[in-house]
Amino acid sequence: MAGSTVLLALNDIPPGSVLDAQLAEIRAHLAEDGHDVVRAGTDDDALALVQSRADLTAALVSWDLGDGEAVLKALVGRFTRLPVFLVTASASVDDLPLWVSEVICGYVWLLEDTPGFIAGRIGVAARRYRDEILPPFFRELRRFDDTHEYSWHTPAHAGGVAFLKSPVGRALFDYYGERLFRTDLSISVAELGSLFEHTGPIGDAERNAARIFGADLTYFVLHGDSTGDRIALHASVATDELVLVDRNCHKAIYHGLTLTGGRPVYLVPTRNGYGLMGPIPPAALTREAVGELVPRSPLAADAAAPDPVYAVITNSTYDGLCYDAVRVAELLGASVPRLHLDEAWFAYARFHPLYARRFGMAVDGDAVPDAVRPTVFSTQSTHKLLAAMSQSAMLHVKNSPRAPVEHRQFNETFMMHATTSPLYPMIAGLDVAAGMMDGPGGRWLVDEAVTEAIRFRQAVARIGRRIAAAGDRPAWFFGTWQPDEVDDPRTGQRHVFADAPLDLLRTETACWGLEPGAAWHGFPGLEAGYCLLDPVKVSVTCPGTDARGTAAEQGIPARILTAYLETRRIVVEKTDAYTCLILFSMGITKGKWGTLVDGLLDFKSLYDGGARLADVLPALAGAHPARYDDLTLRDLCDQMHAHLRKSDLIPLLDAAFTHPPRPELTPAQTYQRLLRGGTEPVRLAELAGRTVATQVVTTPPGIPVLMPGENAGGHDEPTLRYLRALEDFDRHFPGFPSETHGVTRGPDGDYRITCLRAR
Ligand SMILES: *Cc1c(COP(=O)(O)O)cnc(C)c1O
Repeated sequence: MAGSTVLLALNDIPPGSVLDAQLAEIRAHLAEDGHDVVRAGTDDDALALVQSRADLTAALVSWDLGDGEAVLKALVGRFTRLPVFLVTASASVDDLPLWVSEVICGYVWLLEDTPGFIAGRIGVAARRYRDEILPPFFRELRRFDDTHEYSWHTPAHAGGVAFLKSPVGRALFDYYGERLFRTDLSISVAELGSLFEHTGPIGDAERNAARIFGADLTYFVLHGDSTGDRIALHASVATDELVLVDRNCHKAIYHGLTLTGGRPVYLVPTRNGYGLMGPIPPAALTREAVGELVPRSPLAADAAAPDPVYAVITNSTYDGLCYDAVRVAELLGASVPRLHLDEAWFAYARFHPLYARRFGMAVDGDAVPDAVRPTVFSTQSTHKLLAAMSQSAMLHVKNSPRAPVEHRQFNETFMMHATTSPLYPMIAGLDVAAGMMDGPGGRWLVDEAVTEAIRFRQAVARIGRRIAAAGDRPAWFFGTWQPDEVDDPRTGQRHVFADAPLDLLRTETACWGLEPGAAWHGFPGLEAGYCLLDPVKVSVTCPGTDARGTAAEQGIPARILTAYLETRRIVVEKTDAYTCLILFSMGITKGKWGTLVDGLLDFKSLYDGGARLADVLPALAGAHPARYDDLTLRDLCDQMHAHLRKSDLIPLLDAAFTHPPRPELTPAQTYQRLLRGGTEPVRLAELAGRTVATQVVTTPPGIPVLMPGENAGGHDEPTLRYLRALEDFDRHFPGFPSETHGVTRGPDGDYRITCLRAR
């Protein structure tokens, strides 16, 4: 049985003893039956193997192995349904704690049964485990693949055979291997069920995922969360109906509105001194606030009805700010019957107690009474933070009697956005992504990412202290964004973050809450418990500003750090003015972050030591010798920091969002104009008063400054001043272009934005 490994966690046994001989025979029987055996002679060894080996299929653990209890707990906390046999020295099992007999699969007395019998019991259990852990679709797909039928249906590569007839095709076949093509089947394989009728093993897989994610209905979406977003809107919003939309929303939401003819009214998140986007404050979500906001929108005048029918919120934000979803549902439920939480970056939330109440599927009848509870959609990019291939996504529904999703009707929309030729390996991937999170295994996986992220955060904080203690070099200046101090509600004790116990930080939600008014986050208008910073989304902070927006004398703009890290093959997720974001996902390996810590330390010594840019960023200096050749790393940091301060980019950004642009056309009207009237690129100098045709997104804050159909505003109004300041920045610092989407650059780097052609 390939890939089956049995763990024998038993005390070291004197060579030549009777027990030793017995064990050798058990091993021989297991090997004959096709199992590998790994041996741990101490509890530490056993714990290390439990952490690192996902291929265990059974375990034999001695209760007397050091802390045998810890080993047993680790096994059942890591593996769902793994057969564990307990070896006890005493003949009586009465003295063992009760939970032990509940989690183990049986007892083994090594000297009382024959080795063949013992190995046989273990082997049968291992085999059953291997069969039973597979989720429904993947299990059937494997079985089907094993039958090796000849197929007469599409795809025409016929299990990969067509590729073998051409040298080019052969290269692809060899590269990916036969199995991918063997399991790339057509929907005419009835045994595997249907993605459109949600029947058979595919339907079972969706229902299994619904159980695991806590949904009433789950749909597998094979074209990304973008499609999941469009489906949810398309199934809920009719022409000219009003929709409350998080300004911090993904393009796909806008596209959904374009398809439906919905009329967006934007809810604007808060910003802090780093320029990071925060949550939408609770006061903006009340029935009263919505009642005031909606009529002010020019798009509300011609709406089908005065009240919005739908709200969509991004949860969590890119920077890891997650809402109390139950609270958001209570608040918005007073205004809309359906609430959509775009959880593209948050599919893991249900599997760790740190995120209790923070995700859409937590909004059930127990949490919010039916009378005020909206039906909740959660759309997730399964591929972004769980283990699945790109494009794999899920759409989950938690129904409320107020506006329930009726499957048959919803399925019409689902099919409208689907291909009739789904890729079965992707369905298997979604099935497995869900299966991986089932039971204790899911919590274990998320907990590992949480733990590594916290270790990294604490390591960065402790460096500062070590440098200060050494007293022989300039002070440390990097950090990570989180509270400086945390309280332990269990003991009432307060800890400096760097010294807080790991177990406190990885289990206590209160440590990560954005408490109202706290200086470290700088967001206004919060309630206690409303918003949480997710520890796995780490913003590395550079000197230059703080969360309140107080500028510092010394500054290291994060773009320079990012450029340096790239030379060391460390690629960050996102770069803002003085922060850059890194993600700790389930793919993290222990200590992978050590290279990043090393990179930060090296940057500092280059900066302190007056290293020349030509040495630190040779490609940059080589491309722009006249601009950068004479500078040191520190000179560049100083110049860029001075420029950012002088140009007031962050205050301008703030002003741009405080005075949002005026919408002139609905998304659907904009699209019609785009089709029939055409578009043209317009320079910033001529953009005043024009209606833009594309979304303009800049980082920071990574959310739209302009939406299609909105008026760019006056020349001296905040939106255009902000865009001009960015353009000016790019001119001053060639090689560090601002991250902007929806902006094309002219020959001399000037910004051009696509507008509807003037009539
Ligand atoms: C990435 C993202 C999407 C789209 O997801 P894909 O799986 O890439 O299609 C939707 N919403 C948000 C908030 C995202 O970040």
